[in-house]
Amino acid sequence: YSDIAMYKAKRQGRNNYQFYSSDLSQTTIERIDIERSLRRALKNDEFLLHYQPQINLEADRIVGVEALLRWNRNHCEMIPPDRFISIAEDSGCIVEMGEWVLLTAFKDAVQWNSGREHPITVAINLSSRQFIHNNLFASIKRLIKKTGCNPAWITLEITESLLLNDSAHIRNTLKNLDKMGFRISLDDFGTGYSALSYLNKFPVSEIKIDQSFVQGIASNNDHRLLVQAIISMAKSLNKELVAEGVETAAQAKYLLGYDCKVVQGYLFSKPKPFDDIDLQAAWTSALQENKSISPKQ
Ligand code: C2E
Ligand code: MG
Ligand code: MG
Ligand code: MG
Repeated sequence: YSDIAMYKAKRQGRNNYQFYSSDLSQTTIERIDIERSLRRALKNDEFLLHYQPQINLEADRIVGVEALLRWNRNHCEMIPPDRFISIAEDSGCIVEMGEWVLLTAFKDAVQWNSGREHPITVAINLSSRQFIHNNLFASIKRLIKKTGCNPAWITLEITESLLLNDSAHIRNTLKNLDKMGFRISLDDFGTGYSALSYLNKFPVSEIKIDQSFVQGIASNNDHRLLVQAIISMAKSLNKELVAEGVETAAQAKYLLGYDCKVVQGYLFSKPKPFDDIDLQAAWTSALQENKSISPKQ
């Protein structure tokens, strides 16, 4: 920001420097600062993935994990995604970062799945910006070849906003990914337009109930009804379901009562590094004692 301020100051005379620098709001300064260090982050090896288990409560076993990006800025400060994803999207960095996420998650999926009877699916969040970059399908194909990952082990999470403008390019990309064997999941379902037509027009195999509705189950009757409606809709359209943000045993039991068997949330596990994921663990004891888990790091 100092460049802009200096430029303005030079045009206006030196004494105006202070005035113009305080003109830029704190959030603008933070955005510019983050954008600048994001450009170095990939080369400096500052990104890592944490994984959060997805549990099938009926089978009492882990069926998948969601990959969640973590940024260890300058190797000393953890920045949560909410503070850098949208900046990475606006600046275009997300395309390169997204490729790193795909590559790393594919490699980890290979590690988890070699010699396994029941596959562990790895869910990867995709930004709409990665689709607009028109080689997404080609780069995914290349990364699959490079890692030897089976697309059937991968769930690609998209949001409704991607489907809103119904472009032929996006429809074709999703169709090609589906044909290649990837599962497509609609993340944060219920927070956008949630048009039923999306679910038929696009090859979506799974719906993720947004955590805001899951967390309202005990306290908010509208949220309870919405959760029921989403579950019955998903069933009649033959879509798989995951509930995210499950924090209490009451929420998990409610979901199970409506036959939503796959859950993800702090009640079971926070997102953790690859080495800390235990594929043999049992989970349903969390439904008995309502152990509380401290908020994310
Ligand atoms: P999301 O995909 O909806 O991921 C779920 C978020 O909820 C994660 O936050 C997760 O840590 C958090 N969460 C999980 N269980 C609970 C719970 O029981 N209670 C509460 N309160 N929260 C829970 P996180 O890791 O901070 O990520 C935030 C968002 O950033 C993600 O939302 C996703 O939209 C985005 N994101 C994360 N990694 C990536 C990535 O690799 N690429 C892209 N494009 N976006 C990403
Ligand atoms: Mg997600
Ligand atoms: Mg979500
Ligand atoms: Mg979300």
